[in-house]
Amino acid sequence: MDSLNNGEFSFSNDTVKQDLSLLIKALDASLSGVILTDNQQPDNPIIYCNKGFERITGYSRKDIIGHNCRFLQKDDRNQIQRQQLKDAIAKGESIVLEIRNYRKDGSLFWNELYMSPIKDVKGNTCYFIGVQNDISRRKKAEAELEHEKDVMEQRVEERTKSLRENEEYLASIVQTVRESLIVLDPDLTVLSVNSHFLKTFKVSKEETEGQSLYELGNGQWNIPKLKELLEKILPTNNPVEEFEVEHDFPHIGRKLMLLNAHRIELEGHYRDRILIAIEDITDRRDIERRKDDFLSIASHELKTPLTTIKGYVQIMQRLLPKDASEKFKEILAKTGVYVERLNSLIAELLDVSRIQTGNIELHKEPFNFDKTVYEVVENLQAANQSHQIIVKGEATDSFEGDESHITQVINNLLSNAIKYSPDANRVEVYLSRVSNYLKFAVTDYGMGISLDEQKKIFERFYRVGEIQQRFPGMGIGLYICDQIIKNHGGSLWVESEPSKGSTFSFTLPLNERISYE
Ligand code: ADP
Repeated sequence: MDSLNNGEFSFSNDTVKQDLSLLIKALDASLSGVILTDNQQPDNPIIYCNKGFERITGYSRKDIIGHNCRFLQKDDRNQIQRQQLKDAIAKGESIVLEIRNYRKDGSLFWNELYMSPIKDVKGNTCYFIGVQNDISRRKKAEAELEHEKDVMEQRVEERTKSLRENEEYLASIVQTVRESLIVLDPDLTVLSVNSHFLKTFKVSKEETEGQSLYELGNGQWNIPKLKELLEKILPTNNPVEEFEVEHDFPHIGRKLMLLNAHRIELEGHYRDRILIAIEDITDRRDIERRKDDFLSIASHELKTPLTTIKGYVQIMQRLLPKDASEKFKEILAKTGVYVERLNSLIAELLDVSRIQTGNIELHKEPFNFDKTVYEVVENLQAANQSHQIIVKGEATDSFEGDESHITQVINNLLSNAIKYSPDANRVEVYLSRVSNYLKFAVTDYGMGISLDEQKKIFERFYRVGEIQQRFPGMGIGLYICDQIIKNHGGSLWVESEPSKGSTFSFTLPLNERISYE
């Protein structure tokens, strides 16, 4: 290499010149930028650059030949890579680094620079060859990736924090709840229990957590029916509700426990869990039993003297002197009516306790159902002038059932229809046959019942709140009716709208065989 001529090398020998010109063409074809600097001249000037370098930097050969490479960094001088370059050049060593460079138009590009010395036979560095690649895109992608990573890390951190806070919040609720709670893994291993559980069952955390639910205590939860229900919770999302377990538990003895189990979903962060809430209802059930016993004893005790009083009233009515005063006759008649009312109230209470103990006896015999309805209607119509009771349709003249109980149901539903529609003037009864069922329906245009209350009125002693004072009653009529209809294989239901009225209907199965041919 002798001299530089317009950015191309001049050579004295022709074949060498030819070879080198080929080499230069090859260099120009490269996508990478290539420069040569002369180390023997002051300030290491550039003596060659290929087309790739022109493409990458935007400078043309004539702009840069003779310059030191530092113009590529413009005034971005504080990069440590510059010092690394200087050191490598001074030591005559090769170096690879990534450095911020600027194009002719001032725009930044990241240069992956490979600098390598070219030495003479004595080992002195004469030239440096620099190969450059614009890695701005890769750098940008890396920076974006880094940014994404930071954002993700921050999000994970925030999420973990909020999860931790939520868990602590949940844990504090779980610990304060006055019910025993167990959290189970999907394979029904106990993950945790609250302190109320430990206190109730007199067990320690260690002997509970990590165990299979079925191994706890003396296997108290290892009940096939419960097992079946629990194992269905996760796949079907059907909770276990009000499951009663009566068992002789270790440490605490015979108890009645009420179980409710639900699936807890954890927003995909964990596998789903099962939460079991256990309530000790031994005492509550005991009180209910005593209340029922009291009811049964009290109504029996009342029944005996009342029967005697009823007998005496009847005797007095029979022995009534012809010349008795009107006042006396009226008082005696009223006494008879009130004794009868008291008698039916006590009979209802006795019915409740019989139903409770499963002692309700049905004497089934064929009777004319429609005729019974008409008779009840006639009696009620005589006693209630306020309403007209209209009967339409027909059901059957022969139904096999307990006539006195069915009469009680019809009487109760009709009395309620009159009682709870004080501002209306009619009640409608509709008799029909639906498939092999008879259907009885009574409609009133009274106060109606809200949807919420409709579910509860068939429970014993339930009365709708606001009417308690206005209408006398014990809230057991519908409970008894429902039980009687159920005992006959039928069903009783209500459809109602507040302030518009109600329709109470029941169906009873007829014993005829229906042919569908
Ligand atoms: P009672 O009438 O003695 O209160 P029931 O068991 O017969 O007891 O009825 C339960 C409750 O249902 C009543 O207290 C009343 O609130 C409501 N109820 C029953 N029948 C009707 C009706 N026809 N219209 C509106 N409410 C009714």
